[in-house]
Amino acid sequence: MFKFSEISDMCIKCGKCIPGCTIHRVNPDEATSPRGFLDILKGVEEGDIQIDKTFKDTVESCFLCNQCVEICPNSLPTDFMIENARNLVAKKFGIAWWKRAFFFLLRHRWAYDLIAKLGFYFQSCGFKIEENKKSIRSRFSLPMLEKGRLLPAFRKKTFLKKYPEEIKGSGKRRVAIFIGCLANYNYTEVGDALVKILKFLDIDIFIPKKQACCGAPAYFTGDFETTEYLIRKNIAYFESFIDEVEAILVPEATCMAMLRKDYEEYIKHYMDEEWLKRYKKIQGKIFSTTEWLYKYTNLREKLNKKNLTLTYHDACHCAKVFSIRKEPRELLKKVVKIEEMEDSNLCCGFGGITIQSEKFHLARKEGLIKAEMIKKVNADIVSAECSACRMQITEHLDKVGDNKLFKHPLEIIAEAIE
Ligand code: SF4
Ligand code: SF4
Repeated sequence: MFKFSEISDMCIKCGKCIPGCTIHRVNPDEATSPRGFLDILKGVEEGDIQIDKTFKDTVESCFLCNQCVEICPNSLPTDFMIENARNLVAKKFGIAWWKRAFFFLLRHRWAYDLIAKLGFYFQSCGFKIEENKKSIRSRFSLPMLEKGRLLPAFRKKTFLKKYPEEIKGSGKRRVAIFIGCLANYNYTEVGDALVKILKFLDIDIFIPKKQACCGAPAYFTGDFETTEYLIRKNIAYFESFIDEVEAILVPEATCMAMLRKDYEEYIKHYMDEEWLKRYKKIQGKIFSTTEWLYKYTNLREKLNKKNLTLTYHDACHCAKVFSIRKEPRELLKKVVKIEEMEDSNLCCGFGGITIQSEKFHLARKEGLIKAEMIKKVNADIVSAECSACRMQITEHLDKVGDNKLFKHPLEIIAEAIE
């Protein structure tokens, strides 16, 4: 069993983590701060605090933005503590039926494919399809979904169905693509852009068709059974091709961090040495797309300049977890003029499945702060290497009446090689 006190006791109460904490910004209370969470979790372990509805509400309000982990002088893994606390909550109260249904889809690609297909044909019934066809707007209020909210539309063909498993280049270099669920089912232009860039670089592309969801939505909800099922499934599958590729490229910050950091934490605490050894063979080959393109290719020497201005939002799971900030900017500045927003590091407020549904008022507060910040910048485009940020930022730019286009950095780069 994971011991909360081992981490909580290392907190020196310096409070450095508090000013930038996302939940503390929108709900300024010591109980909803990294330091407060650590104290509460120790209290639970020692039997002073009960796992009740208040505890559930408290631990489910963390955005898992990782700001506290990055800033903490002791690098305390508050995110891992919260994930474990949510597991305790899930064991005590169970997981809502609709989340379980969603996690079923994550475990079974055939079922998600079927729902996405039905979603594509029927989305116009309950939603109004926006002009650019990339978003749908809810026509009426549903529990946990307010009228007028923008959501990503399903596409006719998923990324994984659209391309063959192998796309040949010069035969000298070969990489695999891990696409992530949002880019597979909703924002398929992200994968299109990555394929186009890799073809341009003459690199062989392997699209592993049996890849499963990384497991992040389940992990962040405390469903460790689904998480472990997906970890085992992905590792066993990745092993079958890892020696034949130089990298697994992930265009989504959250999926990339889940595969590259959270898997390690989970395996170390809940699985055995053998699994850790197997995972270690894979871990070093997992990269964010902009990081890999910047470090391991000469792409930036081949990009055409465009007369566009862009502002870049640092997705938490790239910036705060892996300090990937310079790489996307170095590539993008060859194409566009970059105009920095006041605080590109400030979380967009997506927060995960529970915050996007049961606690959307928190996502709304943080989303509006970010959107107002973006609105102030004189730019044509806002960009981030993350489809969850895209969903949250698109919704809130709409709410503050800003018409900047959101584009993934890969889309902008792909347009610059035409
Ligand atoms: S992960 Fe983010 S929201 Fe959660 S405690 Fe840390 S800084 Fe606050
Ligand atoms: S920064 Fe780290 S040590 Fe300081 S209060 Fe926050 S969690 Fe504790």
